[in-house]
Amino acid sequence: MFEGRIDDISLWFFENLAGHEEIFHFVSTRSGGFSSPPYDSLNLGFHVGDEPEVVLKNRKKLASALGVPLESFTFAEQVHDGRVMVVGEELKGRGAFGRDTAIKAADAMVTDVPGICLTVLVADCVPLLFYHPEKKVVGVAHAGWRGTVRCIAQSVLRVFVEGFGCSPEGILVGLGPSIGPCCYEVGPDVASLFDGRFLKFRGGKTYLDLREANRAQLMEMGVPEEKVEVARTCTCCNHKFFFSARRSPRTGRFGVGIMLRP
Ligand SMILES: [Zn+2]
Repeated sequence: MFEGRIDDISLWFFENLAGHEEIFHFVSTRSGGFSSPPYDSLNLGFHVGDEPEVVLKNRKKLASALGVPLESFTFAEQVHDGRVMVVGEELKGRGAFGRDTAIKAADAMVTDVPGICLTVLVADCVPLLFYHPEKKVVGVAHAGWRGTVRCIAQSVLRVFVEGFGCSPEGILVGLGPSIGPCCYEVGPDVASLFDGRFLKFRGGKTYLDLREANRAQLMEMGVPEEKVEVARTCTCCNHKFFFSARRSPRTGRFGVGIMLRP
């Protein structure tokens, strides 16, 4: 990934997606917003206890900096359940101005409609962006331990393949900043749900490598290794730049989005 800056907003971008001019994508950070601690400052989540009007101000500022109308941003409710929603024109803009209108009970979205900016909100979960350049299909997902156990990355790939006729070999994927195996301690109940190759043991504690588990799911479905870009930045270690729910349970959310340019 590489960092870009628009005014006082720091944004991160994937190398493997940035070269494609027909799409637009971004990973926001904490910088450039209006929220007070513990949501400082560019909190994009309405559901975390921050003032709704300040969250809206943050979203408007980000949208204007990116040059994409807020009406184009589309959010799902994100319930860690693993459902993928195919987003058509009729769902465009859902959740942009308030959580009550967000797409119900979905954790991933896919579309081939230009002008819809599919966005997930995260603070430690693995955000995933998908793009098939040949078929012009984009997707987004977030995977915490529950979504990873439910193989949400593979569910998204299935929609690309079965719903849009994409070949897994042609799909580009970006895994954004998320909590790393340096910080993601899990208890025996969660650890028991994962293959041992995704667990690290240190000082009598168990740590989960969520990114590696998701990357492995993509490989298993036939996405070539070189098409997957993984940010090794840990949100918990870098909590000054990214929101981390593990670091402070009351905190904001940063956004990760992708759109086919209209
Ligand atoms: Zn860490």
